[in-house]
Amino acid sequence: FKFHHALPCSQKPSFLLKDQWTKVMRSVNMENLRTGYLFPEQAMALSTVEGYSGYGDEQGEKALRKRIAEKFYKNMDVKWEEVFVSDGAQCDISRVQMLFGSHVTVAVQNPSFPAYIDSSVIFGRAGNLQEQNGKYERIVYMECTPQNDFFPDLSNTPRTDIIFFCSPNNPTGTAASASQLRRLVDFATANGSIIVYDSSYAAYISDGSPTSIFQIPGAKQVAIEISSFSKFAGFTGVRLGWTVVPKELSYSNGFPIVKDYDRIVCTCFNGASNIVQAGGLACLSTEGFQAVSKVLNHYKENAKILIEAFRGLGMEVYGGENAPYLWVHFPGSSSWEVFAEILEKTHILTIPGRGFGPGGESYIRVSSFGHRQTILEASKRLTSSLRKFNFN
Ligand code: PLP
Repeated sequence: FKFHHALPCSQKPSFLLKDQWTKVMRSVNMENLRTGYLFPEQAMALSTVEGYSGYGDEQGEKALRKRIAEKFYKNMDVKWEEVFVSDGAQCDISRVQMLFGSHVTVAVQNPSFPAYIDSSVIFGRAGNLQEQNGKYERIVYMECTPQNDFFPDLSNTPRTDIIFFCSPNNPTGTAASASQLRRLVDFATANGSIIVYDSSYAAYISDGSPTSIFQIPGAKQVAIEISSFSKFAGFTGVRLGWTVVPKELSYSNGFPIVKDYDRIVCTCFNGASNIVQAGGLACLSTEGFQAVSKVLNHYKENAKILIEAFRGLGMEVYGGENAPYLWVHFPGSSSWEVFAEILEKTHILTIPGRGFGPGGESYIRVSSFGHRQTILEASKRLTSSLRKFNFN
């Protein structure tokens, strides 16, 4: 992505020796440097007296916090001061839990992204794992199946202090509708619960479902939202995300949670890398956003190809429209057996649904993150081999 020139590419930083500079210049892609692409310029600027920046604001660069608030939370009354830039959603899923201590009760979707349960285990809230059903005794599992449109029956859900909710959901690939989220917010409000809402896949939403919990009136009083550049801009290894902690959200004694979160970020984190934040800012420029959206559309097309392949084989396929994941049902089969059989017959890696909790048994998760050629090849292999498979 184009970025303003922080350092003319011909200018040697004053403190580098000639051979050091030559080595640096050899190691960067000259074409990118000439055309003003982001990384070399920002990285090179750090080697100059003028361009060096040390510790930044622990909460994130103001410009990035502002851009996130404008881009993802337009008309939702989310202020930039409520946006905390992070090194990824996974880290924040654990970090936000420092707010709550070990004695709180927790509910999760079943199936769900494993970090919610595993971090609750680490924080000492889960109790023992029960052999008979594969569930932790002190965690409330909110069943999400095709029968309930992958949205839990809240009338049957016991009150908990924390509700983890991921939409679009990993692994089911389904996004909650506005009316479903309205019910969730009402439920949390009535119970004095806090929703920890994971919107890491929001950029894939195609059917008009809410991209943020803060689209629901009243959510700022009951929810924290965690999100990521990983799925939206391919930053999985680069590491960048953010968390919104609204000023309206408070503990039952009225103390604002954002004050404690600020303290946690300053004490236990110290802020995301400055270069990575510059990359995040570039993704949110007009040009960067267009480039990123192109890639998203590519994955969405991939998902369509994979949906067609599995549906052509008569399988029930969920997800894929609002997420880069398909959730494919093999009724009566073990998800590990399905995984193994597909791997052996086609050399395609899927994810056994059981890895996402007991609710994932008899499903596999299929990812559309890949080059078109790979996806087409996978689709061909599935179509020719899977017919011969012997699933129950
Ligand atoms: N949240 C969900 C639902 C995910 O599926 C993932 C990664 O797969 C993450 C968070 C982790 O995101 P990050 O790379 O920002 O840590």
